[in-house]
Amino acid sequence: MSGPRPVRAPRGTELSALGWQQEAALRMLQNNLDPEVAEHPDQLVVYGGTGKAARDWRSFDAMVRTLRTLKQDETMLVQSGRPVGVMQTHEWAPRVLIANSNLVGDWANWEEFRRLEALGLTMYGQMTAGSWIYIGTQGILQGTYETFAAVAAKKFNGTLAGTITLTAGLGGMGGAQPLAVTMNDGVAICIDVDPRAIERRIEHRYLDVRADSLEHALQLAVEARDARRPLSIGLLGNAAELLPRMLAEGAPIDIVTDQTSAHDPLAYLPVGVAFDDMAAYAAKDPAGFTTRARESMARHVEAMVGFMDAGAEVFDYGNSIRGEAQLAGYERAFAFPGFVPAYIRPLFCEGKGPFRWAALSGEASDIHKTDKALLDLFPENESLHRWIKMAGERVHFQGLPARICWLGQGERDKAGSMFNDMVADGTLAAPLAIGRDHLDCGSVASPYRETEAMLDGSDAIADWPLLNAMVNVASGASWVSIHHGGGVGMGRSIHAGQVSVADGTKLAGEKIRRVLTNDPGMGVIRHVDAGYDIAERVADEKGVRVPMREG
Ligand code: NAD
Repeated sequence: MSGPRPVRAPRGTELSALGWQQEAALRMLQNNLDPEVAEHPDQLVVYGGTGKAARDWRSFDAMVRTLRTLKQDETMLVQSGRPVGVMQTHEWAPRVLIANSNLVGDWANWEEFRRLEALGLTMYGQMTAGSWIYIGTQGILQGTYETFAAVAAKKFNGTLAGTITLTAGLGGMGGAQPLAVTMNDGVAICIDVDPRAIERRIEHRYLDVRADSLEHALQLAVEARDARRPLSIGLLGNAAELLPRMLAEGAPIDIVTDQTSAHDPLAYLPVGVAFDDMAAYAAKDPAGFTTRARESMARHVEAMVGFMDAGAEVFDYGNSIRGEAQLAGYERAFAFPGFVPAYIRPLFCEGKGPFRWAALSGEASDIHKTDKALLDLFPENESLHRWIKMAGERVHFQGLPARICWLGQGERDKAGSMFNDMVADGTLAAPLAIGRDHLDCGSVASPYRETEAMLDGSDAIADWPLLNAMVNVASGASWVSIHHGGGVGMGRSIHAGQVSVADGTKLAGEKIRRVLTNDPGMGVIRHVDAGYDIAERVADEKGVRVPMREG
């Protein structure tokens, strides 16, 4: 029987697979489970509640074994974290095809998912957990930074200096919030029920200090705000208890959001349950736990609406907490908007999204070289320059060194081709895995998040992510995934991902140019189809063909 053990991707140029495409999938699978990267590696959980990289340890071992012997014209098929077949394909085909957590519509709910999961038939893949391109908290940092920058631009004259943001959830994704706020010069109070989550963020320099009590947190926050000094403060406690208390006491909060794992009611701690009892209670009585978690979320969201009524800027940060609060009967749950329609959609119209790459060499210097090359490639892009500089100074690498930055149509293919050239000419020590989050411009249908309030009402149309996956397969990506339920939970999203390996070969260069043109191109055509002017302009400028606009 195989069981939990520490996993770490090999570094350097020695291959344990038959080629770099397979080696990259192998290293990125292992990297997702590196204790520096994964939230709960013993349970194969990478991030986002129970987002896993493999269904069980036997499946993990079988994937490692198979990737080591997989040929250049073979493709491994993964069904919810378990390798189920190897097919003969061809060298342009992906080496791995992944389908995670997909359920037929009428069955697409947590109860049925859990029943099937208990039978060992499925696993929750989240977005980049089951598709092996999670790069630690940095992965979400830039998006979070951009979101808070957009909040600053919209409401606070372009800076968060002199403001206090209140949020909860310091997990794998939520842990980016304190650093994103301080990078925008603001003050953040971040609540979490798990003392380890707070400690971990302090250790990784995403969070500055831990307060001893609510009063202490407010005192620290007000002092820093008045001095216009950036500061992030961790506060141990239950958000469903602390937010209503802070609202009642008139706490001077300017911005409120949340990134607890609300998308999964079994990962949100109900009021009155001790943190140490959470896992046992959720396992013993999932229905009772769910009811109590939803009731607590209703109180949490009610307090967020209260802060909005009092004048704060309030938004849902993509965890479905409004939907859960509504299920518990709270009627004003959707009084505040989601972050995509509020701040991000104009970027999606330009094909922009969370482009990322990991250095398979394990050398930090490879990332520093790509950082510099990217700045030279896009000398005019000020926000990119600001981000890369700050990331270089403040981001702690977790696992294989990696970088993220939002690039759009016409930019990603340039960057990817340049990276492949840097591998070819020996500037970099080894190949790069180039991928992105599933939260991207044309890869998701998610009516509570990426496709909330689309101009033409097409929020729930899920043809787009499927076309996105197919076009990436047809264009030559190294591995492609289709998932259900990531971010916002079962029944609420369908999304796709791709990773393309820059191994320095001419073939990789040709594939990368196509994938990194067509993948963001999906975002442009999706938003043209929905009637967004910005997307039409970008399609014209970048030569993205849209048949319904021709002739
Ligand atoms: P995670 O499971 O790693 O962390 C969640 C944290 O919430 C944990 O530390 C947990 O202790 C804490 N928590 C649970 N109940 C709480 C309560 N009642 N009060 C205070 N803290 C509580 O999850 P994550 O990866 O950080 O993701 C968080 C959420 O954000 C998920 O729902 C995820 O789907 C969503 N998400 C959003 C984006 C985005 O771009 N906005 C991206 C990815 C994920």
